[in-house]
Amino acid sequence: MAFLRLKDIGKIYVSEGNVTVGIRGVNLSFEKGEFVAVTGKSGSGKSTLLNVISGMDSFEEGELFIEGEPTSHFLQPDWEEYRSKYISFIFQDYNIIESFTVLQNVELALMHIEDKKARRKRALELIDRVGMTSHIKHKGSKLSGGQKQRTVIARALAKDSPIILADEPTGNLDSATSAEIIELLREVSKDKLLIVVTHNYDEVERFATRHIRFFDGAVEADTTVVTPCAVSESKEEIKEKKQSIKKVKEVKNGITLGRAMFTSKPKLSLFLCLLMILGTFGVFAMTSFCGEAFDIFDEYYMFNNIEGRLVVTHRSGQVVTEKELEDIISEYGGKGYVHYDLLLDQEDGQYFSFFDHEEGYTRSSRFECTFGETFGDDIIGKYPEKANEVFLYLPISYSTYFGKDSLITDKIEYRGLKYTISGVKYYYDNNIKGKCLFTEEGFETVTAVYYLMSRGNTNVTVTVTPKDGKDGMLSDSFQYYSFVPSFDVEEGKIYINDQGYRKYSENYKGEFQTNIRFMSSYYKYDYYLDRYDNYGKNEVFSKEFTEEIISDKTNSSFEYPEIYVSPSLLFDIANEVLSNSYRQGSVFFESDEKAESVAEKLNDKGYLAVPANTTYSPDESTTIDTVVTAIISGIVWVLSIVFLAFFINLCLSRTLGAIKNDMAIMRSMGIQVKVIRIGMYVRMLVSLIPAFIFVIGSAIYIFTSPKLNQYFVFLHAEHYLIIFVGVMLLTYRITKKQIKKLFDESVKKSLKGGAAE
Ligand code: ADP
Ligand code: MG
Repeated sequence: MAFLRLKDIGKIYVSEGNVTVGIRGVNLSFEKGEFVAVTGKSGSGKSTLLNVISGMDSFEEGELFIEGEPTSHFLQPDWEEYRSKYISFIFQDYNIIESFTVLQNVELALMHIEDKKARRKRALELIDRVGMTSHIKHKGSKLSGGQKQRTVIARALAKDSPIILADEPTGNLDSATSAEIIELLREVSKDKLLIVVTHNYDEVERFATRHIRFFDGAVEADTTVVTPCAVSESKEEIKEKKQSIKKVKEVKNGITLGRAMFTSKPKLSLFLCLLMILGTFGVFAMTSFCGEAFDIFDEYYMFNNIEGRLVVTHRSGQVVTEKELEDIISEYGGKGYVHYDLLLDQEDGQYFSFFDHEEGYTRSSRFECTFGETFGDDIIGKYPEKANEVFLYLPISYSTYFGKDSLITDKIEYRGLKYTISGVKYYYDNNIKGKCLFTEEGFETVTAVYYLMSRGNTNVTVTVTPKDGKDGMLSDSFQYYSFVPSFDVEEGKIYINDQGYRKYSENYKGEFQTNIRFMSSYYKYDYYLDRYDNYGKNEVFSKEFTEEIISDKTNSSFEYPEIYVSPSLLFDIANEVLSNSYRQGSVFFESDEKAESVAEKLNDKGYLAVPANTTYSPDESTTIDTVVTAIISGIVWVLSIVFLAFFINLCLSRTLGAIKNDMAIMRSMGIQVKVIRIGMYVRMLVSLIPAFIFVIGSAIYIFTSPKLNQYFVFLHAEHYLIIFVGVMLLTYRITKKQIKKLFDESVKKSLKGGAAE
């Protein structure tokens, strides 16, 4: 039984409608230990013979037997395995991986040795054997032709395959180097089958044991020059070898290969990493501005869902009174109550202005007004204790506006009403709106101001009655800020600034009254009549308050009359209207569970008590709004992903283009496609790691630096996870597709030199 036998092999090439005979009717048998020299004119079929033997070219006729076994039923993976087991190929144009070092090139062929140290040791031995020890760390691209060919020989030896095929290995070398290479080849392949194609028979004559001449695709002559010593390998040895190949760990080798690919082309890898960073960061930025895509899964509440909040009214439609709320608190042990809770559910918030110490001017922002909430232990300062104090829950970006230290004593203003900041808690998530937390009384006050001043047609008029009985109007509206609510005004008093005081005393020559009348009227716009109308008797009132008027010396610079009123007076006015029309109030308990249990009891008593956490919103406009923004965000998400896919694709086709040849070389060496594929995945993932680190790093940096934080809306951790997993899957898919495209091409075609000369 011949070791390798070709029986009636015929190979034809079909290209562009032309049929060319590669080889025909070739009958040859080979044994180990032979040094076969193949000669013949250009185009006579020498390369085709080697390609057929190596399994890189298919054949149409005949049969190839390896150790007596036929191969015509082989599929692609069988050929890969066949090559891995039997064949080492040496090309005229070297085909070493230029970006790999000599050591890496040789180690690549030593994948079957699992132990790293053993692998290294063997590689060094082989390199020494071909006389390349001094060039171990040199890259392929830096070597001379002869050195490259030596490396290739070391690589061929590394594989320890029984067949070495060399297609004009000295074709590009000078004659001295050629002689050295041939000698080296002979020396290292004494126990192997060595087939050398050469155009210069003289060069190999000294060593050749057999000479085959090709002519026109057929064997013209086959002469045995010397009978080689028979080499026998015991059956057990063969078995052992087979097993060692099976044991090869593809994943492990793939990882090693991927790492080598990554580091061997630093510029390309850097380029890849940069593209990946750009792509991933792009997705991060784009999706950051569109967190709403996920809001569609959130619940919406009719009432602001503050822990322990219970909204109470009467089932009969009657207005709930302050006394009743007080009684509920004392009976069930609540934390507090808000009689008019209309501000609690204004989730868009109210404009508050504060002084920006950094820029040196006043700016305003929307904050939600809240009561009964807590914000964890690590607060700066304290929760409000007085009516004129407020606690702020704010995005971190505000810390620069206030300046960390000055904040606590700073004031924040709502329509002229100034609150002192008692404490603050900063947060990083820009999805959340800032909040102002008040005391019960503070909340009442802000509600009164909101109610009286935010309704466009409310008109609060101050009239002063002089002693002689004629009315004199001092100020007529909130809108002009001549009417200022202030915590500094004592109850039962009204302050007027110097200007107002003077004007008033000029008009009345000092004989002014202390009787003041407030009037608030609320108008409704009638759409049918296209005019404003009085809106219900109970919302218009006129009442006399008797307050002491005091000149305010501190605010004398303002040239218009200003009237400062106490918040309690404002609340009395608001109360006048609200007590007849606003039906609900909120009581607060320490937990939602407690609120729920109290709700049950109250509902038995004729109240309508609704825990805020159970009220899913039926509000259609909110739902539609949410769906629309979610859809838009969703589109941006998809676009971001498409953008990224485009990027990854771009990166990959660049990479693959650059290493196409290397991959073909690896395949010609018999490295399994699977290993190469895993190597590619590893390489891509390694390129993604810096991108991930960069994105996570910059996200954390942006998140924690007040100045940048305000420009980004942050997603939740799980959403970033979705992005990352998505990017990884995407990379995997695209890599797979690109590799498939590449592997569909035959090895021979991928190799630049190939067989076609
Ligand atoms: P050699 O190596 O002896 O110069 P080859 O084996 O390369 O010859 O070529 C044998 C014949 O097959 C030549 O006629 C050549 O033109 C043809 N041939 C080789 N490769 C191809 C190919 N890929 N496509 C078409 N014809 C080919
Ligand atoms: Mg050739």
